[in-house]
Amino acid sequence: MPELPEVEVVKKSLINKTQNLIVKAVKINDGRLRYKIDRYKIKKIIGLKFKKISRRSKYLLFFFNKGIVMLVHLGMTGKFFFVNSKSKKYKTSFYYDINDENDKKHDRVIFDLSNNQKLIYNDIRKFGFIKFLKNINLEQSVHLKYLGPEPLSTKFNIEYFKNYIKGKERTIKDLLMDQKFIAGLGNIYVNEILFFGGVRPDRKIKNLKNFEIQKIIKFSKKIISKAIILGGSSIKDFSSSSGKKGSFQQHFSVYGKKEENCSKTKCDGKIKKIVIANRASFFCNKCQK
Ligand SMILES: [Zn+2]
Repeated sequence: MPELPEVEVVKKSLINKTQNLIVKAVKINDGRLRYKIDRYKIKKIIGLKFKKISRRSKYLLFFFNKGIVMLVHLGMTGKFFFVNSKSKKYKTSFYYDINDENDKKHDRVIFDLSNNQKLIYNDIRKFGFIKFLKNINLEQSVHLKYLGPEPLSTKFNIEYFKNYIKGKERTIKDLLMDQKFIAGLGNIYVNEILFFGGVRPDRKIKNLKNFEIQKIIKFSKKIISKAIILGGSSIKDFSSSSGKKGSFQQHFSVYGKKEENCSKTKCDGKIKKIVIANRASFFCNKCQK
């Protein structure tokens, strides 16, 4: 499931590829995504130019001229492919591989672009969605307006953290998964952050010490930036169709490591798995307190 780093890498790979390209046609193979695609609105981007792409939390924002913004959430299995003028297909991030035969039946929307290039939105499980907004109303979008700060922004700091948790009875896992508190983290990265922060996922936030909060903030930033860097940033990094699965995902320290030994050199603990709010949590039974 794509989290912030996976989506950031999609953005980086597509920026140079799509900038100033014009949408020539849009073909909807299946518009029944999490929200049904508005056929009237999507047709309105035909003839428009890609101006820029940005990311907020796990949302991609494609800015067109005439003040139109295409908001995309990748859900569980959403992905973009880019097809160049020689019909060569590229992936745009590191969390999936190209599987030509299988992919085709899940290509939901195909954007024909200038110079015979294509942008394909593919989604097996169809939990992603594509919506169209006006740039001037962007901040008011229900998807964006309640989001907390980005982990890499300076707004995510100790004052903000301590202020937010005042009087709250929650676990740290639950807090870090809350998009209103911090935007873009999901189950995988939260497990990793808490492992390096030395804090158990089921710890109550009211009992956190200052130094623990500081470590959680520090490792949120560190792990997210590392995942983005390892994820690559240009489409050529992913051009091989046999492409090895992304980088950071091969370097998980705790996620999915049930009953393995703790990877910290000075720790002889074992990784345990518990379920919090229906999501698997992994932690070391010794060095996470
Ligand atoms: Zn340990």
